[in-house]
Amino acid sequence: MIIPVRCFSCGKVISSSSVKFEEKMAEIRKAGREPTPEEISREMDSLGIHRYCCRRMILSHIDLIDEILPFS
Ligand SMILES: [Zn+2]
Repeated sequence: MIIPVRCFSCGKVISSSSVKFEEKMAEIRKAGREPTPEEISREMDSLGIHRYCCRRMILSHIDLIDEILPFS
């Protein structure tokens, strides 16, 4: 729904990095292609997200808040 502020496993703050990550991925998609796994990995490294527990928090997140809001 909304990206959690901290990683569930290690407690690292990930929400601010998630916003930057999504902006970068949207930039690549705007160019007309999907980001490659190497680009995703490089971007996460540049944001300081090295642990796989934190990476899964961002990679597995699906933003559903805009779809749920009309029903509240
Ligand atoms: Zn973590």
